[in-house]
Amino acid sequence: MTHGRLSRRHAFRLTGAATAASVLAGLTARPATAGVSPAQPGAPLARVAPPVAAFALSDVRLLPGPFADNQNRTLSYLSFVDADRLLHTFRRNVGLPSTATPCGGWEAPDVELRGHSTGHLLTALAQAFASTGDSAYQAKASRIVSALAACQAAAPAAGYGRGYLSAYPESFIDRVENGQQVWAPYYTLHKIMAGLLDQYLLAGNQQALDVLVAKAAWVKARTDRLSTARLQAMLRTEFGGMNEVLANLYLVTGDQNHLTTATRFDHAEIFDPLANRLDRLAGYHANTQIPKIIGAIQEYQATGQARYRDIATFFWDTVVGHHTYANGGNSNGEHFHAPDAIASQLSDSTTECCNTYNMLKLTRQLFRYDPSRIDYLDYYENALLNQILGSQDPASAHGFVSYYVPLRAGGIKTYSNDYDTFWCCHGTGMENHTKFGDTIYFHTDDALYVNLFIPSELTWRDRGLVLRQETRFPTQPSTRLTVRQAGGTALALRLRVPSWVAGADSVRITVNGVAQPVSARPGSHVELNRVWRAGDVVELTMGMSLTLEPTPDDASVRAVRYGPVLLAGEYGGSNLTALPRLQPDSLTATGQPLVFRARANNASVTLSPFHALHHQRHSVYWRIG
Ligand SMILES: [Zn+2]
Repeated sequence: MTHGRLSRRHAFRLTGAATAASVLAGLTARPATAGVSPAQPGAPLARVAPPVAAFALSDVRLLPGPFADNQNRTLSYLSFVDADRLLHTFRRNVGLPSTATPCGGWEAPDVELRGHSTGHLLTALAQAFASTGDSAYQAKASRIVSALAACQAAAPAAGYGRGYLSAYPESFIDRVENGQQVWAPYYTLHKIMAGLLDQYLLAGNQQALDVLVAKAAWVKARTDRLSTARLQAMLRTEFGGMNEVLANLYLVTGDQNHLTTATRFDHAEIFDPLANRLDRLAGYHANTQIPKIIGAIQEYQATGQARYRDIATFFWDTVVGHHTYANGGNSNGEHFHAPDAIASQLSDSTTECCNTYNMLKLTRQLFRYDPSRIDYLDYYENALLNQILGSQDPASAHGFVSYYVPLRAGGIKTYSNDYDTFWCCHGTGMENHTKFGDTIYFHTDDALYVNLFIPSELTWRDRGLVLRQETRFPTQPSTRLTVRQAGGTALALRLRVPSWVAGADSVRITVNGVAQPVSARPGSHVELNRVWRAGDVVELTMGMSLTLEPTPDDASVRAVRYGPVLLAGEYGGSNLTALPRLQPDSLTATGQPLVFRARANNASVTLSPFHALHHQRHSVYWRIG
């Protein structure tokens, strides 16, 4: 944490140990409310709906493959985890009885962040219901929402403000308002609010919206009495995406009060340099900032004020262009460092998974405003494949997840457990693996985007279209799309040709076996216009090649990639004290897909996909030459 307060790493040692992308899909499914007034006097006023719409998460079903495997493990955990244990501190906080065993980790009764995981759980259960249609997830969440509603109703009798809902006393809010030490109270409240909104949007839980609206009124009442200077001082303490969830609530309800409250969480110290296109991120706690920027793009949608969009776009360009490692993650020791410091910032605490969770949320939203920028999707694929997919332990039936992904030579992934971690990344981990369907496809009125190569089936209800995508990507560099049901009208199918493909010559696109005479420039969408019929089959094949990707601060330090797949050296139980020196001309394919052999430090080493490398030490970066 910034400003000398208790850091997460510190707290992690002490204890032993924000809002679904799918929300955005739900938001676009609802008509805009008429008569919206400006966020600030004299400011532009209109909502700006993204030109590209997301599908509801419930319109996409994963088919068997590594993403579905991860989802299934997280689903097992969501079914297993005892909600009463996670509700224990909420109930005790308002004097309601609870005999449940308290949780450990960051949910322990004496940890100031307690309650955040219950919010993540609500989002994850909403996504699990939407992604699978299994009403057991909806029912489990419904019981949690009812329990939270009872806690909220008991708040005044416990001496708290009307609408207050938390697992810690309201005095934590006094402390953050007064500049006294406290961990991150609004961070936690954001998770609960986002979970409630997701329950409403994805699981149709009306009580969740009622609880959220009452809680938002409490936030407004608390912040009504603070001066701008006092508010801005308070915003130096991590507050998650408070501006995001309140802007989203405004987009859902049309109630101007929520937008007014949202803008109170616009952090000028962060927003102003970004609006002036200045990278002043060095030294800031990374994941404290990213949710504020997701809030900015939602505030752009809510208000039409271009400044919000400029802030979000410049932030993305800056972070992805100058602060991002080969696996799509950012931060070392949870902080941003000097621009382009990558080779000089390798450790066991690189690339916190929450940061990447949040960058993916930001990325998909920016793509929806500018679908010509394939670099958004290239980043999305890289981070999803090389960090998020590999952040879950495949040996764990409950889908235990990583906090950091270590990128120092000799690093090894470590994982959460059932009840004694509950770090931030445990929470976003529950969310990551229940929403893989959210960015594979997007659409406009007359075009369908196929962005990611993940086995899945899309149902586009408005167009009567059912499309099945079968692929073993990236093991095989191809995908096959079958129209299972067609509406009988013309539709443009926009297939992503990634920037990593080994030249336009290596791309082959067929429709019903007939090669299509289309230009397949790497880093573009190829458009196929047709009246689609049931039984039509589109096949896309792409060439992959080996690349050695230099770090910006040291061209002799490189990562090895095959197509989009980041490769890492398998070092078993052997620790390393320095980057291994790799002989690039020794890289040789083995008979096994995506697996290579090479000489490094005068020994033979196997390089395999980093996302699939677990329970052994690895090297992602190499010294070349
Ligand atoms: Zn985290």
